[in-house]
Amino acid sequence: MNTTNTTQQTVRTRFAPSPTGTLHLGNIRTALFAWAFARHHKGQFVLRIEDTDLERSSESSADGILRDMAWLGMDIDEGPFYQMQRMPRYREVIAQMLADGRAYHCYMSVEELDALREAQKAKGEKPRYDGRWRPENVAKHGLKIPAGVDPVIRFRNPDDGAVVWEDAVKGRIEIANSELDDLVIARPAPVGEVGVPTYNFCVCVDDVDMAITHVIRGDGHVMNTPRQINIFRALGAEPPVFGHTPTVLGNDGEKLSKRHGATGLNEYAAQGFLPEAVINGLARLGWSHGNDEIFSP
Ligand code: GLU
Repeated sequence: MNTTNTTQQTVRTRFAPSPTGTLHLGNIRTALFAWAFARHHKGQFVLRIEDTDLERSSESSADGILRDMAWLGMDIDEGPFYQMQRMPRYREVIAQMLADGRAYHCYMSVEELDALREAQKAKGEKPRYDGRWRPENVAKHGLKIPAGVDPVIRFRNPDDGAVVWEDAVKGRIEIANSELDDLVIARPAPVGEVGVPTYNFCVCVDDVDMAITHVIRGDGHVMNTPRQINIFRALGAEPPVFGHTPTVLGNDGEKLSKRHGATGLNEYAAQGFLPEAVINGLARLGWSHGNDEIFSP
């Protein structure tokens, strides 16, 4: 793995599961890489529970994650931090971004957004929010704030240039800013309040505040990364090194997931597997290390 940053700074990685089910071989493999990378570099490993999806998150799932990690011997240096307990911090950052123009209120309704998307698709364009509620466009088109609509808050994405990063697993990735629209960072709320912030925003504030140097996570997040890099920069922070690990597939070639065929780690424990054996199997999944089968964490 790319080790940029590792000489100057203490390596800090994190595992940031959403507590919406049990840990399985797919998500714990990512945690294993993040944990082992921190241990290898004599760094720190942080656990963050991303529980902002109130409908799907549960305390029992969060407790299960802690139990399973302890069973595997994946020791945590800091945390668990719970995102729901950090709401005042996110709101403070968003208020500051609104005040200095890095973010703005958008009153577009779901119907208008759908109509815009349909029109764009009909023209063969990629559906994207058109920035119509950016303050300069509001002034230009004389837009009137509709009555009774709670606005969302959008991040003002840079218009020009490209986001480029050297992914520690996948290599160089480049996405033009023209491909990215102004992301919703807070859900609808009356003006003067800040609604519940969204994943792509919270994750950046947390990674900055927790001084994470290496974000190691599943490759389902690759397309979130350019947006997050722009948010890191808007927060005045240097983005961490990103490494996106391949998805673990089941015997049927389908992605392992909480809803699809994944055996919970707790079930391996119940079947008598030793935690060392599970770690060993996971560590060797997807690459080869000669015929070595037994090695220490
Ligand atoms: N909470 C996210 C997930 O469970 C992880 C986000 C991240 O690692 O950046 O997929």
